[in-house]
Amino acid sequence: MTRITVAKGDGIGPEIMDATLEIILAAGAKIEIDEIEVGEKVYLAGNTSGIAAESWDIIRRNKIFLKAPITTPQGGGYKSLNVTTRKFLGLYSNVRPCMSLHPFVSTKHPVMDLVIVRENEEDLYAGIEHQQTDEVVQCLKLISRPGCEKIIRYAFEYAKQQNRKKVTCFTKDNIMKQTDGLFHQVFDEIAKEYPEIENEHWIIDIGAAKMADTPEAFDVIVMPNLYGDVLSDVAAQITGSVGLAGSANIGEECAMFEAIHGSAPRRAGQNVANPSGLLQGAIMMLNHIGQTEVAEKVQNAWLKTLEDGIHTYDIFKENISKQKVGTKEFAKAVIANIGQKPSILKPVSYAKNAALHLPKYKRKSSAKKELVGVDVFIHWNGTDPNELAEKIKGIETQDAQLSMITNRGIKVWPDGFKETFCTDHWRCRFKPSNGSKIDKTSITELLANAIKQDVDTIKTENLYAFEGKAAYSLGQGQ
Ligand code: NAD
Repeated sequence: MTRITVAKGDGIGPEIMDATLEIILAAGAKIEIDEIEVGEKVYLAGNTSGIAAESWDIIRRNKIFLKAPITTPQGGGYKSLNVTTRKFLGLYSNVRPCMSLHPFVSTKHPVMDLVIVRENEEDLYAGIEHQQTDEVVQCLKLISRPGCEKIIRYAFEYAKQQNRKKVTCFTKDNIMKQTDGLFHQVFDEIAKEYPEIENEHWIIDIGAAKMADTPEAFDVIVMPNLYGDVLSDVAAQITGSVGLAGSANIGEECAMFEAIHGSAPRRAGQNVANPSGLLQGAIMMLNHIGQTEVAEKVQNAWLKTLEDGIHTYDIFKENISKQKVGTKEFAKAVIANIGQKPSILKPVSYAKNAALHLPKYKRKSSAKKELVGVDVFIHWNGTDPNELAEKIKGIETQDAQLSMITNRGIKVWPDGFKETFCTDHWRCRFKPSNGSKIDKTSITELLANAIKQDVDTIKTENLYAFEGKAAYSLGQGQ
């Protein structure tokens, strides 16, 4: 018996959770359930985290969490509880299999069978955002070496376990050379440890286009958080419905299982939602907790039900489907098929689906780090970069001289173009003058000068070289 935490969530959540639990219990899942309340009701009752402190205790004690989708109030101070849960519990790996079920579920991609392995804790989803000037807000994109190593190793170990042939990496490292660049570099490093698995890298834009057009070209695809979030919806949708795919969020100690889709509030309370996505999540959970036989039984019964043409509205097609059913009726049909196997779709066997245990990340020894300059960001309402340069030269110190000004990343001084549109947010780069060295005292001196000269500094960003190699971006056009 495994004790799990269940949250029924919002919108269609309670309906698809009831259907899912009914099916897995009927198939013999040996689980005991602690139910907690999360989501909209909790947010609106004044708890902006969307969850009560006691519920965390239950989640952490049970370690296995089956969660229906929840509605995140948009804007305001609300943070997504989904993102918070993944990060609090260290659920670094988000595994999202997307497979077409041709000819029983209508799809333009009959032989698609891919798995998106999405980094789950960092990237722009660190959620660190600030308004800095009247005109400019920023979101910090954080990518870490441990984050990259853990997710990429997970993708290769998963491919090995599941006998998959290729791992593809999607990034935009032609533009984001530091952040996506690190992800790609770590991919290349780790790929070498798995010579039996083919590996390749695609720039995300053309990779995404290729995936939407020719998904059969891919097997396992690993990518940073935001890209994985977007593309797993695309991948699920092109198998026939976003309502078909499940998601496993795996950490070193805890794991959370869910559907990939959201709470679909417009469909709530009408007994129409497809419970398949959450059911797929529950099947991954059963495998994770070692109840492989039950997982197989449920998956085979589900495949048989789809093969029988018993379909919810989202996948119902006149010429393919036999019967349009609601959530409850679909669950009943799956239960009636428990013990049966599909005859045309391939029945599953989960002999090799145990939870993956990866070695813990070991911190590398520190590299030689040298301060080589500083970017000082300034709020200034003027329009002529030459005028700003004159003003900023007034805050230079003996060791820190103005070398460049950019606006939204594009170099505007020296030698800018008058056509370049400028906002009120300026980055002024200071480098050591010939023969000198910059240190943190020169930076505080710069900032003190700025106060005296009435220059509105917003933030500074130190420029470092690691092992002698510059580790910051150039200005565009530099
Ligand atoms: P959504 O995925 O909830 O729904 C989009 C549309 O997809 C629905 O209107 C419906 O037509 C279809 N759909 C989704 N699931 C379906 C199912 N099981 N059966 C049939 N049709 C289905 O996306 P959204 O409307 O952008 O988001 C609604 C809310 O869900 C938001 O508050 C969002 O923050 C939240 N959300 C939560 C999660 C999560 O809990 N993990 C994930 C994504 C979005």
